[in-house]
Amino acid sequence: MFGLIGHLTSLAHAQAVAKDLGFEEYAEQDLEFWCSAPPQIVDNIKVTSITGQQIEGRYVESCFLPEMLAGNRGKTAVRKILNAMAHAQKYGIDITALGGFSSIIFETFNLSQMRQVRNIQLEIERFTTGNTHTAYIICRQVEEASRKYGIDLSKATIAVCGATGDIGSAVCRWLDTRTEIKDLILVARNQDRLVELQAQLGRGKIMGIEQALPLADIVVWVASMPKGMEIDPSTLKRPCILIDGGYPKNMSTQIQQPEVYVINGGIVEHSLDIDWKIMKIVNMSTPARQLFACFAESMLLEFEGWHTNFSWGRNQITVENMEKIGRVSIKHGFKPLIA
Ligand code: NDP
Repeated sequence: MFGLIGHLTSLAHAQAVAKDLGFEEYAEQDLEFWCSAPPQIVDNIKVTSITGQQIEGRYVESCFLPEMLAGNRGKTAVRKILNAMAHAQKYGIDITALGGFSSIIFETFNLSQMRQVRNIQLEIERFTTGNTHTAYIICRQVEEASRKYGIDLSKATIAVCGATGDIGSAVCRWLDTRTEIKDLILVARNQDRLVELQAQLGRGKIMGIEQALPLADIVVWVASMPKGMEIDPSTLKRPCILIDGGYPKNMSTQIQQPEVYVINGGIVEHSLDIDWKIMKIVNMSTPARQLFACFAESMLLEFEGWHTNFSWGRNQITVENMEKIGRVSIKHGFKPLIA
């Protein structure tokens, strides 16, 4: 059985969803209440591959909200993620994806040192960040969207916002070795890590986002920000492709301008309907078929019987592993979303 540990994007979102799911007692509550709410299994899932194979899974809502990080409630965030992992393990789930901020909290707070959760010793091999598949899908979105919107990659500049992160660094490695892109711009806050990445890649210009936006034909957004940032669309090149892989979204600006194409980054579409209700809640346009690529990674590991932490740690994703998960993604009927 596979599992997905997820969370909602804000307190307002959580209140609306609780109402929808029939958890009326959660719908009226404030952040304090969500801080003390235990994890819950809120969905049973059945997925059929295009090969005909069928698997079953569970969705575990951790009750973590990004406001907990913004409001300096690090200890609460840690408790939420550890409790959700223990819940998944107690339920006997073989391989569970840590969606959105779950894996970021795991790494930031060094939770591999805190594996005893009450009477449960967490078995790390039962969990995956799902970031290898996410990085692969974002790279495929770059390649397919550039073809669709007439951007020649050999003449293109690509800016990666969140370049030093787990997903961002993997995307940079793929773009460097598997595509012919002309220029790569690396954006993040910590300069030491940017310089280290630049040295590993042997290329890449380090810039702030305001400097990078007017130069980029394609922007990949994979920064871990609790809230999206405002950007000025008039500074963008035309045409320009913006692939927003953040959860919550990295860009808070709604852009509807000619020749600016915004793509829901890190999202896959399955070839067959999935029997679940959870994706309606996170506002997918085709909720029976669209999902986060990290969640799809746990499905792929279950389909293949690879019950192992395929994606783990930070900045260790290899291009070879991206290709490996990519092959089984295609085999089972997942495609990158190009909206
Ligand atoms: P990491 O924590 O590994 O990396 C985050 C990166 O963002 C770092 O480079 C960090 O560098 C940078 N960053 C953070 N804040 C800012 C800022 N204000 N401006 C510029 N750069 C910033 O995160 P992951 O790679 O694991 O995840 C990245 C994003 O992808 C998250 O939003 C996550 O929720 C989302 N995600 C989406 C998935 C999907 O299936 N679609 C799956 C998993 C994650 P620095 O701190 O130096 O600025």
